[in-house]
Amino acid sequence: MPDTPLPRLRFAHLPTPVEPLPRLSAALGGPALWVKRDDQTGLAFGGNKTRKLEYLLAEAQSHGGRTLVTTGARQSNHCRQTAAAAARFGFGCILVLAGSRPEGTTGNLLLDSLLGAELVWAEGEDRLVCLQRTFDKACSDGRRPYLIPYGGSSPLGAAAYAEGMAEFLSQGLDVDRIVFATSSGGTQAGLVAGARIHGFGGRVIGISVDEPADALRAKVASLAGETASLLGHSLKFEAGEIGVDDRYLGDGYGVMGEREREAIELFARTEGLLLDPVYTGRAAGGLIDMVRRGEIGRQERVLFWHTGGTPALFAYADRLAPPDRR
Ligand SMILES: *Cc1c(COP(=O)(O)O)cnc(C)c1O
Repeated sequence: MPDTPLPRLRFAHLPTPVEPLPRLSAALGGPALWVKRDDQTGLAFGGNKTRKLEYLLAEAQSHGGRTLVTTGARQSNHCRQTAAAAARFGFGCILVLAGSRPEGTTGNLLLDSLLGAELVWAEGEDRLVCLQRTFDKACSDGRRPYLIPYGGSSPLGAAAYAEGMAEFLSQGLDVDRIVFATSSGGTQAGLVAGARIHGFGGRVIGISVDEPADALRAKVASLAGETASLLGHSLKFEAGEIGVDDRYLGDGYGVMGEREREAIELFARTEGLLLDPVYTGRAAGGLIDMVRRGEIGRQERVLFWHTGGTPALFAYADRLAPPDRR
């Protein structure tokens, strides 16, 4: 372990509960399923970015930052949680969002403006180029920006999920595998590093929502190594040992298909548990498919790590509940 623990602000609602999903398990004919409720971490409807922000906000403060600057998709959960953290700790907040301002405002986008974030639309420009320009301008305007990387997935952000793994293991539930949605890779890198550091022997399977498995495995492996190193452990991770499943990309990032819709309905109707259309709906759809194919055995014990995202449900209302189904 490092000599001193990483600086961290404490605002997440931790530990998040681990709950059994008996009616969902029965509906699928096994395996035994549990959920870890990282949709309940706090910060304006919660989600996995809240854990990362505990560390990132501590660094922003210690660097004398006054304005948080980050980037994401139009319905970014990361941006919404960052905006909430900024409000809570008295930072300004600038969000560089992909694309152009939509007609309406709903879901996370509504919350971003309620939380007082300034929105910069990248329009046709490359989002990272726009981000750099926005950051430089905030600098020259004397706003002391602190840059939070995409998805909060620096080694510092990912360290929160190594700690999250320790938290889960301390809750005393023994599982064969953990399944969750993976995208910028910070959550998975942290879980993988935490699994090695704290001795979790089961499988850690990220369902990719937007990237081919090979690229994501390499990214997660190197980030897991950097994360472990930040935590004082010299460990090496090979891309081949990172569990990423890219069979459920469907029509691409943010495009909700029948698989996601079915998963959202099944979780809602068997357990009263809400998923989201972009991340957890896709991951749960993958989990359900693996059970149906027999790739996950009926006798297995499986944890679904819920990473949040539920405000985006409202942005997909028309497709989730089309007129003929209301
Ligand atoms: C950001 C996000 C993820 C992916 O986490 P990464 O650390 O970026 O891989 C999964 N689920 C939800 C709801 C998210 O907002």
